[in-house]
Amino acid sequence: MAYDYDLFVIGAGSGGVRASRIAAGHGARVGICEDYRVGGTCVIRGCVPKKLLVYGSKFAHEFEDAAAYGWSVPQPAHSWATLRDNVQKEVDRLNGVYIRLLEGAGVKLHLGRGRLMDRHTIAVGEQTVTADKVLIATGGAPVIPEIPGREFAITSNEAFHLPELPERITIVGAGYIAVEFAGIFNGLGVHVDLVLRRDRVLRGFDEECRTAVHEALAHNGIKLRTETQIARIEATNGGAPYRVHTQHGGMFETDLVMYATGRAPNTEGIGLEKAGVQLNKVGAIAVDEWSKTTAPNIWAVGDVTDRINLTPVAILEGHCFADTEFGSKPRKADHRNVASAVFCQPELANVGLTEEEARHTLGELRVYVTAFRPMKYTLSGRQQRTFMKLIVEAATDRVVGVHMVGDDAAELIQGLAVAVKAGATKAQFDATVGIHPTAGEEFVTMRTARAEPTPTRRAAE
Ligand code: NDP
Repeated sequence: MAYDYDLFVIGAGSGGVRASRIAAGHGARVGICEDYRVGGTCVIRGCVPKKLLVYGSKFAHEFEDAAAYGWSVPQPAHSWATLRDNVQKEVDRLNGVYIRLLEGAGVKLHLGRGRLMDRHTIAVGEQTVTADKVLIATGGAPVIPEIPGREFAITSNEAFHLPELPERITIVGAGYIAVEFAGIFNGLGVHVDLVLRRDRVLRGFDEECRTAVHEALAHNGIKLRTETQIARIEATNGGAPYRVHTQHGGMFETDLVMYATGRAPNTEGIGLEKAGVQLNKVGAIAVDEWSKTTAPNIWAVGDVTDRINLTPVAILEGHCFADTEFGSKPRKADHRNVASAVFCQPELANVGLTEEEARHTLGELRVYVTAFRPMKYTLSGRQQRTFMKLIVEAATDRVVGVHMVGDDAAELIQGLAVAVKAGATKAQFDATVGIHPTAGEEFVTMRTARAEPTPTRRAAE
């Protein structure tokens, strides 16, 4: 049967756009649909606008530090409207770039929500198209727990468009988005309450890094309400200020509540059941290592599959799919040693295993740590420290984990990720001459491993 397309992609975010362009480059006839804006979460309401807001908020620290370097800075004033609108202008520009990239690659864009009618038929708005192969790349969306008053809360989606900054904000959650936005609002002068149900932020990251970030957030003036769960949110006079009631009977007031308690894959209303595409236990689309779903001609990549929910991983998965299916170059996405960063202030970045993971999966380790005040703050007196950790497998001398909390951690770890991916040993790190004076040189000058816990101490931990 002749189909309209060789490939039809549902969702024009990072993974979908990459897959469609590469497939078209291999000669496939490709269509793609999008029901919001081309570019997806990362470009439209995620990584890109978030990072620009982080840059915007960091000026506050720069102004504070400038005096020690001889600058007289008048009391700085900030315009949220200027920052917000400039960020949105950049988002609009990138949205246009993405549309042009698709056009340039010969990919036909259909605006509207795509729904599978069967394995080869997709309805987009009033239109129906057919395709030999289908790729689902619909991403994810924020979830707010079912508590009374949840309708008063916003998510990161709305945070980019606030008409004005609140005086006080309550952010619920302790993951990537919560700590990043806590830093943004804090830098912009908003009083931030961060409400987390455990004792520290960023579960899943290296424990010492978690502690370093947690302490830095508190030091920066963010109020950390640990081991706190919210029972309900009450509006006074139908709006702000809100009364936030905790499960232990506590109450505090705030002007805005933002939930950052995780994201769920976008699987609803896209006709998965009509095409035989099944979900896994966590409600994501079940895929094999080739990103193939339970339907023989349908694949899925990115957050909708809930593997590693990062833009570059979705791009990798989409590229591998297109090369395999349309380029006669079969390759699987390698999910090992994916570096990542949390753009909190200071940043946290890492590649490889955490110390805890390494202790569970490997034998004897050598762990190198250092903590110091960055040179820039020696004059200004800012009480911000940098923390670095190298985890080495003793038997092979291989560096299996690199972690950093500090300025520019993401930039530094990106370079070191190449070394870790290539299987570099500690001896090779040691043989590398540092660049002086930098923070990064510490990674190649760590000489003494931390004393290992004795077996009895380890068992007691
Ligand atoms: P995360 O999964 O990172 O964190 C969710 C947080 O919410 C955790 O602290 C979790 O606590 C908490 N939580 C979950 N349910 C509840 C609840 N019912 N009540 C209170 N707290 C709750 O989700 P995010 O929303 O921050 O980010 C989503 C994904 O987006 C990330 O996993 C990441 O992959 C991606 N992302 C990546 C970024 C980057 O690369 N820099 C930036 C932003 C997002 P607990 O630990 O107790 O479970």
